[in-house]
Amino acid sequence: MTTLARAAVLESAGEAAVIRELELAEPREGEVRIRMLAAGVCHSDLHVRDGDWERPTPIVMGHEGAGVVEAVGPGVTTHRVGQLVALSWLVPCGTCRSCVQGRTWACPDSPSYRHTLPDGATAFRTPGGEPVRSYCAIATMAEASVVSAAAAIVMPDGTDPAVAALIGCCVTTGVGAVLKTAAVPPGASVAVVGLGGVGLSCVMGAAVAGAARIVAIDRVASKLDAARGVGATDGLLAGDDPDATVAALRDLTDGGPDFVFEAIGRAPTAELAIAALPQGGTAVLVGMTPLGDRASFDVYPLVDGSRRILGSNYGFAEPAIDFPRYAAWALEGRLPVERLIDRWIELDGLEDAFAAMRRGEHTRQVITFG
Ligand SMILES: [Zn+2]
Ligand SMILES: [Zn+2]
Repeated sequence: MTTLARAAVLESAGEAAVIRELELAEPREGEVRIRMLAAGVCHSDLHVRDGDWERPTPIVMGHEGAGVVEAVGPGVTTHRVGQLVALSWLVPCGTCRSCVQGRTWACPDSPSYRHTLPDGATAFRTPGGEPVRSYCAIATMAEASVVSAAAAIVMPDGTDPAVAALIGCCVTTGVGAVLKTAAVPPGASVAVVGLGGVGLSCVMGAAVAGAARIVAIDRVASKLDAARGVGATDGLLAGDDPDATVAALRDLTDGGPDFVFEAIGRAPTAELAIAALPQGGTAVLVGMTPLGDRASFDVYPLVDGSRRILGSNYGFAEPAIDFPRYAAWALEGRLPVERLIDRWIELDGLEDAFAAMRRGEHTRQVITFG
């Protein structure tokens, strides 16, 4: 028996994603089939769509999603039909140097990065029989997807599916960068550059950490309001002059914030984050740039002032631990994740969502499947 699913397919980088009906294989041993309920549109998807990163095609897009378990493969005892799961875009290999040292979020050998199931098989194919890969092995921009059971993290009862979807990428990336990568202590001053889903999640994480000052920075005034709504104490509208932004940020934070989170993925804003640091300050680079981008900084003050630059992939996520924890905090109101979502679309609206994202509009657009 074959399941059919409509899916957003990137046939060639740089071209529009197209909605195709694909055949979906039955879940095998160690696999589950998910009926998707919600999928976020993340900036990484735009990088893939525009060809900033080299990825194999054809590929079903999407790496931030949640749905219900619709079928389990033979021998799967970890999941039951009907459970709500958030999907993780990184299932570590378990054997590489990073995994053995316990830094699974830094695993370079994850099968997720091959965009196939762990044994190299593809879950999707065209009606003509051509295999189609699944982005990060989860392919959330599809009505249904077959994934490794290890990628499907069961959510607490009562979790909203759209909230669960965002926990799959932006929430975990931003909150984890603050709480795990940087370990921001109570009373610290924090700045966040770029207020999309990841940046607003950094703001939420800073609030959970008990930061005394949280300065949210963006070029779009409405996003400063969104940031205040999730815990920012100050909003700073950035203009074309980075030096003016740095000066204003220093004025707000007694000479510079203890921590600056760069959540856009652009070299100039990474440079701004480093330039704004006071002595002992830490810049945390969270946004993913196009491959090959380079940034520069003055070396002497970095050493002399014991400043630090940290990279943070996926918020140092241990999904089986962190996803349910963040979901519980969302249920308690400590993480107001639902406020990140400012536009609901259907799968057919994906290209329009990408266009809006290029214009800097919206904090998080979410696809629902009707
Ligand atoms: Zn993402
Ligand atoms: Zn590994």
